[in-house]
Amino acid sequence: MVYMICMIWANLIKKGLSVLNTELKKQLLEAIEELHKYQISVYLDAVMNHKAGADYTEKFMVKEVDPNDRSKTISDIYEIEGWTGFDFPGRGDKYSDFKWHWYHFSGTDFNQANGKNGIYQIQGEGKSWSDGVSGENGNYDYLMFADIDFDNPDVVQEMIKWGVWVSKELGLNGMRLDAIKHINDDFIAKFLHDVRQVMGEEFYAVGEYWKRDIKTLNEYLASVKYKVDLFDVPLHYNMYQASLQGKSYDLRNLFTDALVTHHPEQAVTFVDNHDSQWGSSLESQVKSWFKPLAYGLILLQKNGCPCVFYGNYYSIGDQKSPHRGLIDTLLDARRKYAYGEQDNYFDHANTIGFVRRGDEFHPGSGVVVLISNGEDGFKDMYVGESRKGQVWHEITGNIDKEIAIADNGKAMFHVHGGKLAVWVQKDGIPEEAE
Ligand code: CA
Repeated sequence: MVYMICMIWANLIKKGLSVLNTELKKQLLEAIEELHKYQISVYLDAVMNHKAGADYTEKFMVKEVDPNDRSKTISDIYEIEGWTGFDFPGRGDKYSDFKWHWYHFSGTDFNQANGKNGIYQIQGEGKSWSDGVSGENGNYDYLMFADIDFDNPDVVQEMIKWGVWVSKELGLNGMRLDAIKHINDDFIAKFLHDVRQVMGEEFYAVGEYWKRDIKTLNEYLASVKYKVDLFDVPLHYNMYQASLQGKSYDLRNLFTDALVTHHPEQAVTFVDNHDSQWGSSLESQVKSWFKPLAYGLILLQKNGCPCVFYGNYYSIGDQKSPHRGLIDTLLDARRKYAYGEQDNYFDHANTIGFVRRGDEFHPGSGVVVLISNGEDGFKDMYVGESRKGQVWHEITGNIDKEIAIADNGKAMFHVHGGKLAVWVQKDGIPEEAE
């Protein structure tokens, strides 16, 4: 079982592994080997949309486009001097002899000749923005720096060659694909197909498609033939709204049009990430009071592959995370109790919950989860006749009380107002199974 996703950040890769000295590469490989010993999968954060930090400038023809509508030209065609030449003097031809030039890119944002910023669409035979990208801003192929042209067959070949190489070289288990709404969807499907030909069908992929609109995500999954999972951005925004609105938010809507509702097998659920946190470009940080509720839901529900944000666990900068202890409790509960079928009790605007029924492979498993955004809540919930007489208790520390399961397999489970409650069978799991 995978307990944790380990991301290796893109800036290691952006510069090319070859410029890391031998010792750093050795440390990286040793770290990955150690993670694998504990059956922790390692996914690379692959930033394939753009390149930065070129070795030298080149001169080429462009036209400027309107940043708010990239299909609209706002200048004549003229020559600029852009940062598009990559020779990799450190790497040489050791791992690849591919050298990048202006014609491998579709656009850039800076003219060295006059110091002017803009969105410069590179001109030449067959040059255009890609199809199969987000339609925001007319065509959202261009995001930043030198935008890689995935309509160029040499580029496609080199990127697939790189994908296979880096996966084998590091012994990767999968990838997080950055900024995929800016990349031709046909390329993503082909890239994953070809990498999996070498690495195996189980090679994992999750794409960052930052869009809260479920229709767009559904269409994207279809267009890449369901080869990639996606982060559940709509669920994140629902949780963000719930955290802002307090008890006026109807919790029965929390999973409405979430990816995990539409495609439970392809949703990577998360509460916050590096883009949603305070001060970031897509700031939409779930308020602190709601984070325990949000983590209780994503870590203990049946559907979705949950992701714990570093900042919520360890903290970012000076902001101390008050949630680490609770997340530890929930991770432990996930491992011990969160098994079996799920029965939802999404029947009240201010108190919702679910039951995981447990399974035969995990004796003593099964869990009841409740959240409230208003007053104290109570629900008569069914955990199974076979559990009659069992004593259950609450493990987050919010409720110091025990309850007994009645002959009909039910009990009245409680949650305090604005809190999370997680109920499990007391002494249900023998010590040796822990
Ligand atoms: Ca692009």
